[in-house]
Amino acid sequence: MREAAGSLRSLRELNRERVVQTLRDVGVASRADIARATGLSRTTVSSLVADLKDEGLIVERGGGRTAGAAAGQSGRPPVLIGLSRAAGVVVGIDFGKRHLAVAVSDLSHEVLAEYRREMPEDYAAEDGMDTASELVDAALDDAGARRDGVLGVGLGLPGPIHRLTGTIGSPAILPGWVGIRVADEMTARLDLPVQVDNDANLGALSEFLWGAGRTANSLAYLKVATGIGAGLIVEGRLFHGAGGTAGEIGHTTIDENGPICRCGRRGCLETFAAGPALIELLRPSLGADLTVEAVLERAYEGDPGCQRALADAGRHIGQALGNLCNLFNPERIVVGGSLGAAGDLLLDPVREAVERAAIPSAADDVEIVLGVLGQRAELLGAVGLVLHEADRTPTVDGGGPIVARATATEPA
Ligand SMILES: [Zn+2]
Repeated sequence: MREAAGSLRSLRELNRERVVQTLRDVGVASRADIARATGLSRTTVSSLVADLKDEGLIVERGGGRTAGAAAGQSGRPPVLIGLSRAAGVVVGIDFGKRHLAVAVSDLSHEVLAEYRREMPEDYAAEDGMDTASELVDAALDDAGARRDGVLGVGLGLPGPIHRLTGTIGSPAILPGWVGIRVADEMTARLDLPVQVDNDANLGALSEFLWGAGRTANSLAYLKVATGIGAGLIVEGRLFHGAGGTAGEIGHTTIDENGPICRCGRRGCLETFAAGPALIELLRPSLGADLTVEAVLERAYEGDPGCQRALADAGRHIGQALGNLCNLFNPERIVVGGSLGAAGDLLLDPVREAVERAAIPSAADDVEIVLGVLGQRAELLGAVGLVLHEADRTPTVDGGGPIVARATATEPA
């Protein structure tokens, strides 16, 4: 008898965990959405939700559209619920080449506080991590949250991240960070579990969860900026490959005899289509102090040289993406990064080149669109890493089960 009661209780615990995980994944949902996502009956879901509501872990949320509403179901709109502040908060940190950003979000996916600070180029890792710790404290303060209510920290770095060690795998972008175990160091500073991923993967995750990649089950996100990188979402989850290097599309060979790339190989996509390559191409005619922003502005105003440079970059990018479509058959490709701001001046040539390089069935399946989250994409993705990928990404101290930690937290 005792054993039967025990296993009943543990089944209920397990189901409760599934309800909580579903809400953490999607932010807000109706009871019917939760039943669909978990495979549990409506009655079971309602009973578990009632318990969680009594404990103050679930609150009703207005706004938002559910899958049912999107499908055109009529009738009274369902009541949407989400995890409350008492269930905890998550922190996102984005280390860029020249900036640092921090956000605090609750588990219903609402950003409660956000900071962005410009940093000197090639700032030292120590300075970056010290500043990040200060900003995390300030953001938690603003959000009215405490460190013991933080379920996890997601952290983004602009470079390939080695999955097991959490170190940067390439010295090229942040020279002062090579060999530093950023997750360990930040865990020591914050005393919180930290997950690390690279910027393109985080851009993919945020556009998938909240941006131009919503509803696409297989998605490639392309970040075109100082470098070029891709993040891949496969069956709704981030794909990292064996060691964490998946998506390094910037180092696809375009020309075996092309310029030497910062990675040491020749003729990589980056040497033709990333920001520095465009600047190099246009400097002889437009002057030594040319910036990417100026190139985009001139291109909008109709400067034929700047338009041509963007169009050629788009064609090279499209060639690489066409190959990606043949291998991976994505439903959508979202283009972001500073050069994404060129809009159709870049995307039209990309689309044409994809049509040429991809076999018809792969080219027909893919829709190529601009990202909508702009410079917040990586930061929001760092938040998304904890909300959506916590069960799949190694963390330094493991990060306990959410409900166990949540119930230890005082209601906000
Ligand atoms: Zn390269």
